[in-house]
Amino acid sequence: MKVLVINCGSSSLKYQLIDSETEAVLAKGLCERITIDGKLTHTTTGKEKYTIDADMPDHNAAVQYVLDALLNKETGVLSSLKEIDAVGHRIVHGGEKFAKSTVITDDVLKAIEGCNDLAPLHNPANLIGIRACKKLMPDVPMVAVFDTAFHQTMPDKAYMYGLPYEYYVNYKVRRYGFHGTSHCFVSKRLAALIGKKPEECKLIVCHLGNGSSITAVDGGKSVDTTMGLTPLAGLPMGTRTGDVDPAIIEFIASKENKTVKEMNDILNKKSGMLGLSGVSSDFRDLDAGIAEGNDRCRLAVDVFSYAVKKYIGAYAAAMGGLDAIAFTAGVGENNPYVRRLATEGLEFMGITLDENANQVRGEEARISTADSPVAVWVVPTNEELAIARETVALI
Ligand code: AMP
Repeated sequence: MKVLVINCGSSSLKYQLIDSETEAVLAKGLCERITIDGKLTHTTTGKEKYTIDADMPDHNAAVQYVLDALLNKETGVLSSLKEIDAVGHRIVHGGEKFAKSTVITDDVLKAIEGCNDLAPLHNPANLIGIRACKKLMPDVPMVAVFDTAFHQTMPDKAYMYGLPYEYYVNYKVRRYGFHGTSHCFVSKRLAALIGKKPEECKLIVCHLGNGSSITAVDGGKSVDTTMGLTPLAGLPMGTRTGDVDPAIIEFIASKENKTVKEMNDILNKKSGMLGLSGVSSDFRDLDAGIAEGNDRCRLAVDVFSYAVKKYIGAYAAAMGGLDAIAFTAGVGENNPYVRRLATEGLEFMGITLDENANQVRGEEARISTADSPVAVWVVPTNEELAIARETVALI
């Protein structure tokens, strides 16, 4: 089966065409600057990557460019649109309504729309992507795969905030968690790597990228995770604060005469690694800064790694034990320094990294010593493949 995986943002659209039998990526690409002007970067596996400036006034136009790129006689991979058997859409927020992926129907579209106020930047864009695809491929079955769904197994003690209860009743204010597709995919793989069934083990998945979250997975189920009502909570990230004392917001707003909206912008876009270092949100730039002796780059990476370590400890305590830890996503897969800082001193918990093995980048590998009671692995994530698998399973 050929599955088109779509990840639609407000001005971008990432796609991959995956052969579900071989799990090979047949083609992939990115539309950027949708509604502004438009740019498509497309690669068909085995052929040359190309970029074109394209006129993309809306997402329908972007989807049309994607389909044209897939169908192009010289640079494409399909001879007819009929070869696309299904489309899998990444949806950021499924609220409490979606604990699983689901085939998209009109009722499902309405229910996703009902979650819009929980993710006002993401869900409306995801919906636009679905509608654009439905318009151009009306007969192709489509599946919604939610970032939040994997975390719906959390117990109430993990997802409730210490706020007046009516905010949960009236507005569904609670922890939801994100990156669920990645946490699910990586935790299953980690269980297989340590030779156990997911139901038999206690795992911690550290998804560390530009956005970062950590999940405790007990018996194959998410039992706690660091992100919250929104993806702003938990670890400090590329440009997001992660957890801060909530009173700081009013304190700074009154000192600097800022509105709630302006504060939100600072917390989401000017904080985290960028805010601390004053240099960059990208860990490669921070590593370069550290090598040059920049103390604020050192501080940023220290704050980040220390937060990762604290959550590893917290989640081992929450689960009452720990079999294995996975590091995944851009930083988790490629940054030996962060992995070392995040785990050093945890030998008392049975975690001992093998310094040589920890030099690995971007590849699946065990990075703990052979006698470390807790196995530590680098497990590359693959959210698109996970979405394609879910899509095939549902149709
Ligand atoms: P992600 O959001 O998963 O794409 O991760 C982005 C972060 O991962 C950035 O801070 C990058 O510096 C880091 N990253 C991605 N690829 C690499 C790489 N090959 N080497 C080092 N860091 C990387």
